Amino acid sequence: MIKGSCLCGGVRYEYDGELQEISLCHCSQCRKAQGSAFVAVSPIESARFRLVAGAELLKEYRAVPHKARVFCSHCGSPLYSARDDLPGIMRLRLGTVETPFQCQKAYHAYTDSRASWYEITDTLPRYPAARP
Ligand SMILES: [Zn+2]
Ligand SMILES: [Zn+2]
Repeated sequence: MIKGSCLCGGVRYEYDGELQEISLCHCSQCRKAQGSAFVAVSPIESARFRLVAGAELLKEYRAVPHKARVFCSHCGSPLYSARDDLPGIMRLRLGTVETPFQCQKAYHAYTDSRASWYEITDTLPRYPAARP
């Protein structure tokens, strides 16, 4: 069981599954949404995700019409995103996960959009835009 929460602790969730893949997205939308060089997200099955507390605190922002970025309206923590055309999948923001886990399968996406001040120095696969 994976557990996590937002910065203020108002939103808490559980995921009854494994985190099997990590996407490190450097696109400009993810950089702004996180206030950081990139976002670390894992795709998860919506059916196995459960809000334990704080559903009333969740708000969403849509930078593009078909994709909701969901965050805590009290502390601002980004929690997950969900696309209208992929209802079974959410993309969990891994900075909110509290349960220790390991995941060997990770990759960089949208490296052509990466911040000028950040250099990628690992050997993970890199894709200039979305992963093909
Ligand atoms: Zn919060
Ligand atoms: Zn992105």
